[in-house]
Amino acid sequence: MRIARFTTEDEEPRFAAVGQDSEGKTVLAVLRGDPLYAPPELTGEKVDLEDARLLAPVIPRSKVVGVGRNYAEHAAELGNEAPAEPLLFLKPNTAVIGPDDPIVLPPQSQEVHHEAELAVVIGRVCKDVPPERVKDVVYGYTCGNDVTARDLQRTDDQWARAKGFDSFCPLGPWIETDLNPSDLSIRCLVGDQVRQEGRTSQMIHDVTALVTYISAAFTLLPGDVILTGTPAGVGPLVAGDEVTVAIEDIGALTNRVVAS
Ligand code: MG
Repeated sequence: MRIARFTTEDEEPRFAAVGQDSEGKTVLAVLRGDPLYAPPELTGEKVDLEDARLLAPVIPRSKVVGVGRNYAEHAAELGNEAPAEPLLFLKPNTAVIGPDDPIVLPPQSQEVHHEAELAVVIGRVCKDVPPERVKDVVYGYTCGNDVTARDLQRTDDQWARAKGFDSFCPLGPWIETDLNPSDLSIRCLVGDQVRQEGRTSQMIHDVTALVTYISAAFTLLPGDVILTGTPAGVGPLVAGDEVTVAIEDIGALTNRVVAS
């Protein structure tokens, strides 16, 4: 199932199952409440996707956990060794934006990069998850862009600022709950230009290994998000760009880039 979070006019955000009507048009079947906290229940109301504004499908309640250098070619392109164990960092939930929201270039940085990533959405409270239980704690998957101020990442010892500016964590367009994440194509386009093209099978530490490793350190809550690292090809974003993260069997997440 694909779960979207959306709004129409001035309404409060609502959740919906994404489907198609008999003419092939994409339709949102509205759900009662938040499907992360209760089994999905249809209200019977349907909204055409074109009449809705999609929002970030989840606002992480406690954290976005990032994983650095999880694709060997990406580690190499920035002159780094791939770490033996996952390299973790946190992004604040205030960095999260949804489809079509603007990525705002902060004045403190002259070098903001895109990083297309598979995002894992956690579905239940968990700690110390063994590999065989990972599938039980994952709610689904969406597209993420781990926007990074590369110059500040080089000069700050900690990555909190470089990774954590407002708007530096686009998520969407929806959460795909039925998905095998082991070998999906993942691409980043800026305008029509393909900047990144990889497969999730190139991850050094796969989704199962990451959830196990991360949950050994942190309790994960429903709605927490793990960004699983980016393939090679990261590069600059400038005002006026339109950046898209596209992942096979999930969809495409597009954001425009604006100056602050
Ligand atoms: Mg990243």
